[in-house]
Parts: sequence; structure tokens; C-alpha cells
Amino acid sequence: MRQSQLLAPTLREAPADAEAISHQLLLRAGYIRQTAAGVYSYLPLGRRVLRKFEHVVREEMDLAGAQEVLLPAIQPTELWQRSGRYDLYGPELIRFHDRHKREFALGPTHEEVITTLVGGEVNSYRKLPVTMYQIQTKFRDERRPRFGLLRGREFLMKDAYSFDTDGDGLDRSYWNMYEAYRRIFTRMGLQFRAVEADPGSIGGEGGTHEFMALAAIGEDTIVSCSLCAYAANLEKAQSVTAHPSEDENIADMTGEEQSMTVCPPLTRLHTPNIRTIEQLKQAFGKATYQMIKTLIYVADGQPIAVVVRGDHEVNEIKVKNTLGAVELQLADAETTSRVTGAPVGFAGPIGLSIPVLVDEAVAGIKDALMGANEADYHYDHVVPTRDFTLERIGDYRNVREGDRCPRCEGELRFSKGIEVGHIFKLGTKYSETLAATFLDAAGKEQLMVMGCYGIGISRLLSATIEQHHDENGIIWPLAIAPYQVHLVPVSAKDAEQTKLTEHLYKWLRQHHVDVLLDDRDERLGVKLKDADLIGIPLRIVVGKDAVNGLVELKERSSRDKQMVTVEEACSYIRAALEQVQS
Ligand code: ATP
Ligand code: MG
Repeated sequence: MRQSQLLAPTLREAPADAEAISHQLLLRAGYIRQTAAGVYSYLPLGRRVLRKFEHVVREEMDLAGAQEVLLPAIQPTELWQRSGRYDLYGPELIRFHDRHKREFALGPTHEEVITTLVGGEVNSYRKLPVTMYQIQTKFRDERRPRFGLLRGREFLMKDAYSFDTDGDGLDRSYWNMYEAYRRIFTRMGLQFRAVEADPGSIGGEGGTHEFMALAAIGEDTIVSCSLCAYAANLEKAQSVTAHPSEDENIADMTGEEQSMTVCPPLTRLHTPNIRTIEQLKQAFGKATYQMIKTLIYVADGQPIAVVVRGDHEVNEIKVKNTLGAVELQLADAETTSRVTGAPVGFAGPIGLSIPVLVDEAVAGIKDALMGANEADYHYDHVVPTRDFTLERIGDYRNVREGDRCPRCEGELRFSKGIEVGHIFKLGTKYSETLAATFLDAAGKEQLMVMGCYGIGISRLLSATIEQHHDENGIIWPLAIAPYQVHLVPVSAKDAEQTKLTEHLYKWLRQHHVDVLLDDRDERLGVKLKDADLIGIPLRIVVGKDAVNGLVELKERSSRDKQMVTVEEACSYIRAALEQVQS
């Protein structure tokens, strides 16, 4: 491609509202333009990168035995009614009516459509298993579209769905996809981690993994062990004992042993206007981990209490999963005072007549301070195992950095990640509601056992740039670069340079190298600045040494330049490309 004809309008400055570096660079280097909030047009360079990502994904999906289909973006909402997701999905689902007043939605994901399709076409165990995939635009009216392509309202996704005859088959399909995902992200040059994720109300242990691109801007917190391979999303991560209660082994004691410890009896304390953990700490000199926090929530309309240690945070996903609740919100002040009989700030587990979920770390405290459900009163010297019911004890807290790994002696560490892929064991959730059945070898009707597997293709553009850039611009890994070689003659008017440049251009194209020729009548400084911004991995500058058959070769990722013969440049490029293809 000749750059003089390429629509790649570069900008000196990014618009002020572009916060993420990837968003700024995609705009500045002329890859995308915003059409509406969370809705983007891909200019030629952007389109080429999308295609490169698609290419890697297609190759690996095909290799894994998945079959490509293309499903409609427009879906009758009746399917969503049948699957039970019509109300659950909420305003993210973009709904509209056709001229006959029939309601449709723009597909945010395709479980309903594919389950109906495969359920209708496959009737026998002999035709199973199958995995179908597609690469298609998805629509989600996200509450907060942001960071450019990282969270769009219209975005490109690869989604795949597996159909098996039983759970063992699903396991095989799932791990087959897991391996394919590892190959895909490795080929793309991405630094990533596969982490255990929260399966929500469906799926069991190990039933879902998220593939996270490591990046500071990521919205997800990845918890990983300093010693073993354990890695999980914070939503799901567990820890053995949360420090600093290791020195208080009371959790392991029997009730009798505990009552023999030297904690004075429960005492009611007058605490006028002391409501927060911080105020209690100041007033009574107790450590934060010796306080007990009680939060009142409303779960699907019902008030409940969650009790955690003062230095811990409630993990709402864990609470939701335990209760099987769809909605969980902190109660407002009025609800809180109605159920606790006290203003906000004095809640405690003693005397509540609502379900009380107690985090397991609370049981380990031997002399705690907590609210008394009465205005201006707290209890001191609380021994949870002695003083209130631990009927619904469980893991309801976020792990913290430094906590002990649930699998080994290691310590948990935190990092930030961008979810670029998600694999999920669905089981029979959709085949049940949408009647996807088959006849087994004995002629008996069975439900298909499903998995689903997504990759955010457009999100990957941004995630890759978050990892691969410097102060001058993007640095594309070779496998996904819009062009592989940037050919830059110093002077468009010099006959020798032009001759050599054209010779190289022709040779590269004949050898199927994606080459961009900067034939613009610009100063070299301008061309090189744009080249750095656009980020093509290999650069050849043809200058005054063209007469001697020498050119300058440089990789975008390195500062080194070398003068080499044209032949050397060509073989260098071929070797680099061979490495990517193998
Ligand atoms: P998130 O938690 O980031 O909203 P999700 O759990 O809703 O993601 P899935 O439904 O699993 O995402 O979709 C599969 C993949 O599609 C995700 O792993 C992600 O890479 C991508 N994706 C999801 N939502 C968006 C979006 N709004 N913009 C761009 N990519 C997205
Ligand atoms: Mg989402």
C-alpha cells in the first residue's frame, strides 16, 4: 500500500476525553474514529489489525475442530423470554420493534440463537460433539462505555459454543478451548494469565476461566499466588486465613476451649456518635481486625445482614451466589434502621431477625467490638463463637494482598487485568429452556451439555497497545501488525532512492510481505514520527546509500539501526516472518 493514498489521518494531540493510552494512540495514529459514545469506525489501519486478530483466532479455532458459522445480529426477543434472560439482562439488551410490532434485540451474545439452531438440526448422539464459532459484531448498551475499544457498545467478538452428550464430553471440549485460547494469546504476543472466575449461578468448580491481559488500566483485579499456579479473579479468589489473625488460632478451638480463654464477658458500651471503624479505633484503641462490621443489604427485596471483620470488605458476588440472589444492594438508611432498630453505624449481629451471613474470618476473633443495634451503643469483648449464632458462616469477603494461598503456603498478590477471553461451562442451562435434546445410543432423549467461549477481538486491539507502546507510539507484535514492513525513502525526488525503493516494494509484495510504502512528499522527520506512531514492527529507510545498495534496517521495538545490503534486509524480514508463521 502506498501511504500517499492511505486514509490514516494522524493527530498531534489526542482528544482530551481519551484517558487510556491505547485509546489516545488509536485515535492519534489514525486507526479509529468515534461515531457515538462506545461506537467506533475502523479506518483502514484499524480494519487491517482487526483482520490480523481474526486470522489468528480463525486458524486456532479451525485447528481445534470448531466450525465457523455466522448467526444473525437481530434476534427475536421471544427466544430471550424462553431462556429466561429477557428480564435478567436488563437495559444492556438493545430492544426494538419491527413494522409489525414484533420485538427484536441486537445480539449481545448468542446462546439463545445457537442453542435453538443446533437443537433443531442435531437429533442424535452420532452427530455430537460439535463446537460452532463465529466472529461478529455484538451490541451491549453498556452503562459506562469507556477507554475506547476496551468497553464499547458495539464491538467485535469471537463467540463459540460446544454441544456434548455428557459432562465428560463438556470437560474435553472446555479444555480443548482452554488450550486453543492459550495458543491464540501467545501468538498475539500478549502477556496474559488464565484465572479462575466466578461462575455466577451456573457452573461448578473450575467451570469458568477468564483470560486476562496484564495491564494497569484493567478493571479486573487478578489474584495470584507467589509460589504455585493459583490465579483467580478477585470476585472469586479465596484465601486460607486472612492475616493478621494467624496469631489467634481461636477459630480452630472448640466452644469449650474458647470460653476458657481470658475474654471478659460481653459488655455494652455507651458510644455516642461513634459510628465508623476509624472512630472506634481512636476511641477504644482496638485494632481494626478486632472490630466486626455488619452491613445490611437488600437481596431480591429481602433485607439480610453480612458480617465481616473490620479490616475486610464484603464480596458481594460471593454473597449473591450463596443466596442465589439476582440483585443485591446495600440497604438505604431507612431500611437499615427498620431492621436493626438503630441508625446507620450501630448494626450488629446480636438480636437481628433477618438472615445473618457471617464471614469465616470473624469466627477467629477472640475479643471484638461491634454495634449493638441501638443508637449510641456498641458491644465490647465479643467472642463470636460464644455470643452470636454462626449458623450461616462462609466465605463472604474479598481476599487481601498478603493473605495465604488456598492451595499452598504462598502469599496472594494482586495485579490488574483486562478480560480478553472467557470460557464457561454452561451445562444444560440453555438446552433445558430451549429444548436442545438428542437421542442417546439407547434411543433415550437427553439434554445437550453446553459450553461457551468468548474472545473480545476489538478489545484486544486496545489491550495489546496497553502492553506494547512507548512515548512515541504503538509497537505492534509482528503477528498482528497492520503492515509488517514500513518502507521509507528519504527523498521521493531522488532517482536512485526511488529505484531501489520500488525494487524493494515489488520484491516484498511478491513475497507476500505486508508492506506500507511512505511515498508522501514529506520531510524525513515527519515520516519517521508517523512511522513510530503507527507502530509497524520492521522499518527500512532508503537514503543516500541507495547508490551502494545499502539501506537502514530498524525494528520498532529497539533503538538499534543497522546499515545492511538489500539482500540482507530481505533475508532478515523473511526470517522474522517465518518465525511468526511457525
Ligand atoms: P466484562 O466483564 O468486561 O463486561 P463480560 O463478562 O460481560 O465482560 P462476556 O460476556 O464473557 O464479557 O464476553 C466475552 C468477551 O467479550 C469478553 O471476555 C470481552 O473480551 C469481550 N467484551 C465484553 N464486553 C465488551 C465490551 N463492552 N466491549 C468490548 N469487548 C467486550
Ligand atoms: Mg459485561
